[in-house]
Amino acid sequence: MFHKVAIIGGGAAAATLVSELLERRTSRPLHLDWYAGGPEAGRGIAYGTPSAQHLLNVRAASMGMFVSKPGGFLEYAQAIDPSVKGSDFLPRRLYGDFLRSRVEQALKNAGSFGHDVNVLPFTADSLVPSAEGVAIGYGDGESHAEAAVLAIGSLPPRPLPGVEDAAIASGRYVVDPWPFLANAVPDDRPLRVLVIGLGLTAVDVLLELSARWPNAHFDALSRHGKLPEPHLATASAPADDGGELVDSMRDDPNIRTWLRRLREATTNAEDWRTVIDGLRPHTQSLWRDLPRAERARFLRHARWAWERARHRMPPEVTAKIEALEQAGRLTRGRGRMRSVHLSLDGALDVARVAAGGVDVVQSYDIVIQTVGLNTDTQRTEHPLIRQLVIGGHVTPDSLGLGLKAEPNGQLHDGNDRPRSNLFAIGSLLRGALWESTAIPEIRKQAQALANLLLADDKHR
Ligand SMILES: Cc1cc2nc3c(=O)[nH]c(=O)nc-3n(C[C@H](O)[C@H](O)[C@H](O)COP(=O)(O)OP(=O)(O)OC[C@H]3O[C@@H](n4cnc5c(N)ncnc54)[C@H](O)[C@@H]3O)c2cc1C
Repeated sequence: MFHKVAIIGGGAAAATLVSELLERRTSRPLHLDWYAGGPEAGRGIAYGTPSAQHLLNVRAASMGMFVSKPGGFLEYAQAIDPSVKGSDFLPRRLYGDFLRSRVEQALKNAGSFGHDVNVLPFTADSLVPSAEGVAIGYGDGESHAEAAVLAIGSLPPRPLPGVEDAAIASGRYVVDPWPFLANAVPDDRPLRVLVIGLGLTAVDVLLELSARWPNAHFDALSRHGKLPEPHLATASAPADDGGELVDSMRDDPNIRTWLRRLREATTNAEDWRTVIDGLRPHTQSLWRDLPRAERARFLRHARWAWERARHRMPPEVTAKIEALEQAGRLTRGRGRMRSVHLSLDGALDVARVAAGGVDVVQSYDIVIQTVGLNTDTQRTEHPLIRQLVIGGHVTPDSLGLGLKAEPNGQLHDGNDRPRSNLFAIGSLLRGALWESTAIPEIRKQAQALANLLLADDKHR
């Protein structure tokens, strides 16, 4: 086993792995350095929101932190409010409280297993892996570990092509919606707001800002102008184990065939969601068998339809968004943003290619970009990832899906060979696994990675 491990990152993935490691008895005590990047270790971006409007998009019964206890979150929530049901979509901030309480418990228990842990509220700025271990640079300090795990979530969003620097410098073009939402103050002016993208982050932005800005009008633009699909009010079990569909997909790993098979299966199902949910346990292995050219085809042609069907909205959220549309406060449009220019009067002129290839220019007071997770490690400003890539310590995924890695999280070195002492968990593994961001996937990765890190040498 590794006796000294560094974990880099302050979100749910790091919290889950730390807890998995500290709650085990090992042949020798473990020393853990947790570079949490800030004081509230464990919440990360998704569960750091203070807003009661921001709900989990996974039912309470499925949000447990550990594979061995999938109902753990439901128990926690019911201890606070016995009327909570397993099918409820609860506030994300409550989930953040749950993560914090579980981590605090694990930190407290660590001593009884002989483990020793430092929670460091710093970001790790550099990692240099070698045969002897990993050197970790932070601020003016340096430390060493036998192995390190990157649990840094997705990368900071980058401005879309066509956005002028002046538009960004004006503060009216928002590249990262989360800090903006955290600081947006109530405003009753008749603001004209454009949201680019129509996924779950856009939905969060629309719910929050429409409440704080009661006289604002929102346009939302995406390639297809469609919202995420809604969940059913009650959970429906997968139609079957998906075996026949999965086998037929495995037999012919190409996207055209897969889409045809999926269309057939969803047409024949009582509810299409049961087919998509039935695929979930197989998605990672199907992805692994997909040749690179087919992965690229999926990203070009099927990704957004998959995201809409797979990452759905709770029914109460759907109702709120529909109410905004019916009240005339939200207009959805199809098209592609071409450019954003800061005009002399201080507004943003947005040119977009609308349906039929026609160019349309419209003025907005604020434009907010919500275009999904960024995992492009070749083009990021994230200091640690830049250092790792430029130093040739890792290999970027060539489709922009994180870092090249083994399915167990072992990162590849600059020559695309698996490293024995540098690992990742979560979004950086999208290239290896595709589905690698939600709690049900993360808790499985955390359990498997803890097994690997603590395994006797002969088993590793
Ligand atoms: C808005 C939103 C809602 C979501 N809702 C759900 C849901 O309902 N259910 C579900 O299952 N999943 C949901 N997800 C998926 C979500 O990504 C995961 O559940 C989980 O939050 C991912 O955690 P993470 O630790 O991998 O990443 P993050 O939460 O992004 O945490 C990573 C942390 O690492 C820190 N960090 C970065 N670099 C460094 C460094 N160099 N040193 C130290 N720290 C660093 C970052 O600042 C950040 O705090 C949601 C995601 C988002 C964005």
